[in-house]
Amino acid sequence: MKVGFIGLGAMGAPMATRVVKAGFQTFTTFHKRREAADALASLGASIVSTPAEVARAADVVITILPADAELKDVVLGANGLREGFSAGKTLIDMTTATATSLQEVERTLAPAGVRVLDAPVSGGTTGASQGTLTIMVGGDPGLLEEYRPLLETMGSRIIHVGPLGQGKVVKMVNQAMAAANLLIMGEAFALGVRCGADPATLYSVIKESSGYSRMMDSRLPGFLLAGSFQPGFKLDLMKKDVNLALDSARAQNTSLLLTSTVAQILTAASAAGKGGADFSAAAQFLASLAGVDLSRAAGGGAAATVSQS
Ligand code: NAD
Repeated sequence: MKVGFIGLGAMGAPMATRVVKAGFQTFTTFHKRREAADALASLGASIVSTPAEVARAADVVITILPADAELKDVVLGANGLREGFSAGKTLIDMTTATATSLQEVERTLAPAGVRVLDAPVSGGTTGASQGTLTIMVGGDPGLLEEYRPLLETMGSRIIHVGPLGQGKVVKMVNQAMAAANLLIMGEAFALGVRCGADPATLYSVIKESSGYSRMMDSRLPGFLLAGSFQPGFKLDLMKKDVNLALDSARAQNTSLLLTSTVAQILTAASAAGKGGADFSAAAQFLASLAGVDLSRAAGGGAAATVSQS
């Protein structure tokens, strides 16, 4: 099976590396920066010049791009995948995007006999490197079984969640919850610090208590407690994901009272210049409103606050 891989970013590069190392003949291209494609080529992948050429060379093409606009551009734009696809080939889209965009892509490709699988992921860059992603698959279950061995090079939990688009829906719900879990950590930890608590103590105790979420393990060590915000997962991508939820809610005449506040905080953090940082910077942004630097406060007692009021 020849595999095409497009979108060699924070997630795509380690995922594609696993595909190549698993022995799949792999074709890729690049957008603005060539380095990630070169790194993949050094492992044996072939670099071609356009998505259309990737689609011509491969039997199945994986995409993991920022969002809807890039997905449509790569598939339907000039020199896009559509131009190189032929009957029997498959697109597996792993982007966090809207169900409606992927369904539109599928409607465009289906008349040519091209099949589409919806397969967004959770597990972050660590999961991408280790092949332990959760993959939420929407589409024909038979198609999933055909490509399960390929998906198993990237994920350890591959779950069929319904028809095409349902992967995007499950991922959207996950993101709304992940963002809320992150932000409450920034806000509540800052309160604890103002009251004299050590964030490291809060982490070790709440890890075993009812306030726990996996976000604590994911974003306290190495990020919030270290004061380091190298992405990881860019804040602007999380802002995009939360806005996908707001857009869907609008279309469903559904209110999202908490999630809309989360979106406003992410927008404020982005406007304050944090959009390219890891999304955990939004929790520190909230903590800063209370005058707290969580990394300085960790183990710090009196150094807990950045300003005294
Ligand atoms: P990223 O910004 O690091 O990478 C995106 C890649 O897409 C870049 O390499 C960019 O060059 C490429 N690209 C953009 N436009 C393109 C185009 N027109 N043609 C070809 N390539 C193009 O983003 P990421 O963190 O890798 O995230 C990718 C997707 O995965 C997003 O939808 C994100 O929400 C989702 N996701 C990210 C994480 C994470 O922890 N980073 C976790 C789960 C899901």
